Amino acid sequence: MDEQGPAGGELSESPWERRCPDCAGTGTAAGAQWAEWDRSRDRLRRLRDEGEGTRVLGELAAWLLAEHEATRPATARRARCGRCGGVGTVPTEAGAALLAFLRRHRTD
Ligand SMILES: [Zn+2]
Repeated sequence: MDEQGPAGGELSESPWERRCPDCAGTGTAAGAQWAEWDRSRDRLRRLRDEGEGTRVLGELAAWLLAEHEATRPATARRARCGRCGGVGTVPTEAGAALLAFLRRHRTD
């Protein structure tokens, strides 16, 4: 995957962090309401397209799809990733140990 998230392309060599597995490094994830909405839309599209042999079923599915379009979630389609907080990476085991070390010995 060439998609680069907020962390850019340098993280492949980092021992401290790795690409976030939940958002694939983008820092955002589909909102839960959108995931369910998208699944229903895809089901209706398949029904509409497969129902073309049966005119009534095709028309019914097209009508249901139009109704479904009117029920789009009000929340943002993409929300900040809950796992990495939008950074696009998560600490490796070594990175987590380094963070703990820095917290223990911070001098500010
Ligand atoms: Zn993430």
